[in-house]
Amino acid sequence: MGNLRILVQKFGGTSVATQERRIQVAEKIIAAKEEGYSPVVVVSAIGRSGDPYATDTLLNMVKGINSDVPRRELDILMSCGEVISGVVMVSTLVELGYDAILLTGAQAGIITSNTFGDARIVRIKPKNILENLTEGKIVVVTGFQGITEDGDVTTLGRGGSDTTASALGVALDAETIDIYTDVEGIMTADPRIVDNAKILDVVTYNEIFQLAYQGAKVIHPRAVEIAMQKNIPLRVKSTFSDAPGTLVTNQVDSDYIEIGTDIKNDRLITGIAHTPNITQLRVNTQNEQNVPEVDLKIFKAMALADISVDFITVLPNTVIYTVKDEVADKAVKILNNMGFEVGTRPSCAKISIIGGGIAEVTGVMAQVLEALTSQGIQVLQSADSNATIWVLVAKEDMVKAVRSLHESFLLGR
Ligand code: ADP
Ligand code: MG
Repeated sequence: MGNLRILVQKFGGTSVATQERRIQVAEKIIAAKEEGYSPVVVVSAIGRSGDPYATDTLLNMVKGINSDVPRRELDILMSCGEVISGVVMVSTLVELGYDAILLTGAQAGIITSNTFGDARIVRIKPKNILENLTEGKIVVVTGFQGITEDGDVTTLGRGGSDTTASALGVALDAETIDIYTDVEGIMTADPRIVDNAKILDVVTYNEIFQLAYQGAKVIHPRAVEIAMQKNIPLRVKSTFSDAPGTLVTNQVDSDYIEIGTDIKNDRLITGIAHTPNITQLRVNTQNEQNVPEVDLKIFKAMALADISVDFITVLPNTVIYTVKDEVADKAVKILNNMGFEVGTRPSCAKISIIGGGIAEVTGVMAQVLEALTSQGIQVLQSADSNATIWVLVAKEDMVKAVRSLHESFLLGR
């Protein structure tokens, strides 16, 4: 994009929650500007559920009137949180003496599918952003939203601001996409659970995609996927410190090794992620004649009802799989209507052990099981692939399980 050095800087909800924090945000933006970058700033809505302008607060307000608000209108409402936050951010920057402009998703040219509430960015028309950058302005873009070809406002689903940042980074061919948050980088486990979780200095897109996909909410998996398409480096760092954070890049790209970092692709385990609120279903299929077809029938029915399934184990007389707690009743009803007996185990948690080295090393699964059983944790189900091991445990055991695995694989500081 000419000679502009574009830097995308995304600030999450906690980073913009108070004016004191927004000043710290502004300092990050101004520092980039002073270094010669053209900053494109993506902001999330202010605060978390319960705060006056948080997205959940807006939602609850209207759901108190009508539990079935049309999805199109819901998206217009949900897009307001970022608009408010964006105006506040621009006002802060201008007050500090910098020229800044707010562009909504529509004004920034972010075109999406028309799946309200969970829209996909299909393309970006960067003209407006580029013109403003060329004029020397700091461009602030509302995260989490876009517009359909027909002009309807859409939102991108949870973690949507991360996706906005990555998509802009790709569309504008940014030097880097910086994701600023309330922790100092991507860590070996959620620091809220594991006290000595360690910051990962340099990791590959694939490792972080897996970690994010399996529940580490520090970055949205879709954002990782998008940045990876064009190899734009992603950095995750803290709004509230100067720590270098985590660099997410491609291990084949050697540019970054030269600046003194060390890509450890020989790492056995990268990190541990967890997802609570999962129900295990055990479907009895022994009365059915044609077993392969029966399994197919079950999963087709789930797909038809838009229920995503996980952790599938097919046994001669039983099919075991998991769904989210919130859709478990619906799944059981469907199965019962098909004539199946179903056993359920609600409130489970899925623990994922992620690492590129798992495939080459034998005994990793044994170590996982040993770490858990030595703590008296019952493993309800397990599975593995070349880069991930999954175990299902009771939700009460989740924290203990994450901690004991973190300990066992010596991931801590
Ligand atoms: P933001 O509002 O900035 O988008 P999020 O709450 O979405 O922030 O993500 C940051 C949070 O992600 C952290 O506060 C942390 O508790 C959580 N988290 C979960 N897993 C990890 C991990 N592996 N590394 C870092 N943070 C993690
Ligand atoms: Mg987030």
